Amino acid sequence: MTGTDVRAAGGCLCGEVKYVVRGPLRDVLICHCADCRRWHGHAAAMTSASRGDVTISAPESVRWFTVIGDGPRPRRGFCSRCGASLFWDAPERQTIGIAAGTLEQPTGLQSAGHVYVSQASDYELFVDDGLPHSAGAATAEASYPPS
Ligand SMILES: [Zn+2]
Ligand SMILES: [Zn+2]
Repeated sequence: MTGTDVRAAGGCLCGEVKYVVRGPLRDVLICHCADCRRWHGHAAAMTSASRGDVTISAPESVRWFTVIGDGPRPRRGFCSRCGASLFWDAPERQTIGIAAGTLEQPTGLQSAGHVYVSQASDYELFVDDGLPHSAGAATAEASYPPS
């Protein structure tokens, strides 16, 4: 269901790119996959929303990068001015991933789990934070994990 009320807003570090979400956001998955590590510099905290619920204020200022590989590949969107990573967009999905740290607070979201922990870097510490840890994509979130 697509609502009209702004549920959440966010943006990049320099303020060039802002976005609003009119609709529900998924709770946050923390992705430790190798691509997210390189893209974000560490694990990536990602929420997601229906593609049609997300409005980007300066879409011309978002640049998109796709890792070359087999099959349909997601593209990652970042601010062309400050480089902040903002979006994760897989063509086969109805949802678009949003870097949770770019949301304005309070987000009203909770962390839902760690995914792709099998690809975490060797310096990462995993303490028992009460969240499920999945070696790959979270099974409950299989239709829309961040990676
Ligand atoms: Zn920026
Ligand atoms: Zn990832």
